[in-house]
Amino acid sequence: MLHKTIRYCSQCGADAIRQQQPPGDTHLRPVCQQCGHVIYQNPTVIAGCIIEHQGKFLLGRRAIEPMAGKWSIPAGFMENGETVEQAAAREVLEETGAKVDLLSPYSIFSVPQMNQVYIIFRARFDGFVQPFGDETAELAFMAKDEVPWHHLTYPAIGQILSRYIHEESHGQFGLYMGNFDVGLVHPFGTANSCFN
Ligand SMILES: [Zn+2]
Repeated sequence: MLHKTIRYCSQCGADAIRQQQPPGDTHLRPVCQQCGHVIYQNPTVIAGCIIEHQGKFLLGRRAIEPMAGKWSIPAGFMENGETVEQAAAREVLEETGAKVDLLSPYSIFSVPQMNQVYIIFRARFDGFVQPFGDETAELAFMAKDEVPWHHLTYPAIGQILSRYIHEESHGQFGLYMGNFDVGLVHPFGTANSCFN
């Protein structure tokens, strides 16, 4: 499991962190040997949107690491004090300058290697209201045949997008979950394949 190595206690500042399993706990945690503070590290949520407008999709090329130079749908880390819906709309605004209305959840996928969970919504484009942010190098609405399928941040992003395009042609959208490394995002309800 990947976690940042913690050296100093966030409570008392002591350089006395050891990995221990606190009484009643199920995992090893960094525990301060000075004050007993237990440091819990849990996955972060990344919220984003598929934004379709006139048959094209809003994609941004990342200006920063990780994955600098790769393309993705707008998405970013949820902040404390906001809902995941607010996080998705805020990230779109910050990265692209676009205002969106969320329509529904579309895909949930986990990246256990990075301790991340992605929650992707379908959203309606409501116009650009400010310039795009520093995390974005380039921004474009792309048709299906313009999407840089081999230069996307994660295989799952490509699968979500291609599934969306396929479903749109049939006029009905499902709800999916999956796992990033195989790029497979499965429909809810097919439990056997969901946890491959
Ligand atoms: Zn401490």
